[in-house]
Amino acid sequence: MRAAFPDFRLGSVLATSFTGTLSERHGSAVERIPVPGRLVDWLAVYGLAVDSCTTAQLGLARELRESIHAAATAAAIQDALPAAAVRTINDRSARGRAAAILTPEGERRWRLGPDSRVEDALGVIAADAISVISGERDGRLALCASPTCRAAFFDTSRSRTRKWCDMNTCGNRQKKARFHAGRRESTASAD
Ligand SMILES: [Zn+2]
Repeated sequence: MRAAFPDFRLGSVLATSFTGTLSERHGSAVERIPVPGRLVDWLAVYGLAVDSCTTAQLGLARELRESIHAAATAAAIQDALPAAAVRTINDRSARGRAAAILTPEGERRWRLGPDSRVEDALGVIAADAISVISGERDGRLALCASPTCRAAFFDTSRSRTRKWCDMNTCGNRQKKARFHAGRRESTASAD
């Protein structure tokens, strides 16, 4: 049954990968966490395994997701941050009970609260969003150049000139569109 759900688009930045669970916001939107079980799957991929997820918790996750999307978009275009979005992000950050753990190998892991609640995982995502939006991390928030996407992404390339949220999807599609447009043009000029 699970194969019937849309694939995840996995990026390296937690907060913006989370906003990417709803893609093509300005086209035919694709909801990649349509049921609580898919949020559980997504969190596990990012080392935030939770015991269970209710419909209400999925609702909290989506509310946080859209708040991060709104705040990150505003930050990318240097607009004022929407107050309601900031409130939601701060609220979720404050309610999480995860602890950062240093492994013997020197890696950071997250240890969620004693019953590994969705709220704890959302707290980690909210804190990640805060570090990205506040500009304290090395990188630049930008909006995807695809007109049907416009996702906020975090550009950590050295030149800070990344145009697409994801090379394999938006970037590739744009390249193909340009290729076909080029072919049409050369056919037209040959006539
Ligand atoms: Zn995109």
